[in-house]
This record gives sequence, C-alpha cells and structure tokens, in this order.
Amino acid sequence: MAKPLVALLTGAGVSTDSGIPDYRGPNGLWRRDPEAEKLVTYEYYMGDAEIRRRSWRMRWEAGALGAEPNSAHRAVAELERSGVPVRVITQNVDGLHQLAGMPARKVLELHGTAREFVCTACHVRGPMDEALARVEAGEADPPCVRCGGILKPATVMFGERLDPVVLGEAAAIAKGCQVFVAAGSSLQVQPAAGLTGVAAEHGARLIVVNAEPTPYDDLADEVVRDPIGTALPALLRGLAAG
Ligand code: ZN
Repeated sequence: MAKPLVALLTGAGVSTDSGIPDYRGPNGLWRRDPEAEKLVTYEYYMGDAEIRRRSWRMRWEAGALGAEPNSAHRAVAELERSGVPVRVITQNVDGLHQLAGMPARKVLELHGTAREFVCTACHVRGPMDEALARVEAGEADPPCVRCGGILKPATVMFGERLDPVVLGEAAAIAKGCQVFVAAGSSLQVQPAAGLTGVAAEHGARLIVVNAEPTPYDDLADEVVRDPIGTALPALLRGLAAG
C-alpha cells in the first residue's frame, strides 16, 4: 500500500530557532514598524530610490542568508528521506528547508525566496549573494546588468500578488494529502488559512503545531503547543514509523 502523503505548511515559527524573527506575520516586525514596512512594500520600493537603498542596506546588514537550518527543518528532510512522500508549503523565504536537505521540487515557497533577486523589468533572476556583493562594493541600488531595470528580492512584497501557479500547486497538495501538519504559523492570513481549511474539508488528518492558539485548533485532530524544535521532530518520527 502506498504511504500517505504528508503535507507540511510551515510559518515563521519554524525558523525562529535559526535566529530569523517573524517579519511579516500579523504581529511581525514589519507590521509593527510602518517605516520598515515601506521597505518591503512594492509601491514604495518601485517609486522611491531612497527606499530601495535602505532596503538593500537592510538586507546586506541582516545577513539572514547566513542562518542555518534547525532541528525542525532537519526533521522534515529526514521524514522525506525515510520514504514517506512529503511536500512542504512554506510561508518562509529563507530557503532553510532546502538547505536541510529537502529536494527543491518538493518545497513550495508561497512568498518567494530571499536567496534570489529578480529584475522587475526583464524578470531575469540570480543569486542574492551576487546582488549583495554589488551593494558591498558600493552600488547602493544595483540595477539589472542586462536591462538596467530595478532589482528586488525574489520575495512577494506587500502589495504584490502571490504566484498563481504556486498557489494552484499548494491547493492541489492540500486537497490530495492524507496528513496536513501546520507548524509555526498563526493561520490568520491567506493563503495559509485557506489551505488548512481545504485540507480539513478534503479529509486530511489535521495537526496544528503552534505556540499560540490558531483559528483551526477546533478543526484539528491534534494540537501541539510544545516548542517546535522538539515537538515537530517527535511528531514526524511518529509519522515515519506509521
Ligand atoms: Zn532586467
């Protein structure tokens, strides 16, 4: 018999142990600081060179690309290696699931990735390290080397639409999985909330792992409040054992 498909929806709480704060959640850093929020809001970013210069400087200083996967990321990759079909749908842009060993094709990044830049004019992409090296070398707002257009991180900024292809794939996984684990997400914003509802409606066993209550706790078959760094590995070992 085929092993059940396990879908994991992961939010900021999964990367907290890697030293990455919650930036964009309902109580995230950006939401609490209007000036910081401008740096990641498409309209301001595109319309104001000073915002772009501050935005690049912030990314260069943050050094989030140096963050390492933690026990939760490693546990997800281990579950996949054990032979259980696993798909990750993540709200995070840090690329840590892949760095922990999850095959990139099995990770859907709802909000894009901070590990790449993209040109807003010709849509060419490249490694973020390359753009940050140019910032370090003195280009405060590095333009696209191909067309001169404005570069931005390949993340979904406030005011930008989520990629409909990624969203469609995420919905298909939510419908088709047998187990849906929502970890480290408040499940208060779309599309995370909707995907959780879709999974439950289609009969998946719903497991919520989050420090704080979520709107989906009542619908869940299991709710885990323990710290993710220990709770998620324990839970996934259980799933691997069947
Ligand atoms: Zn370009």
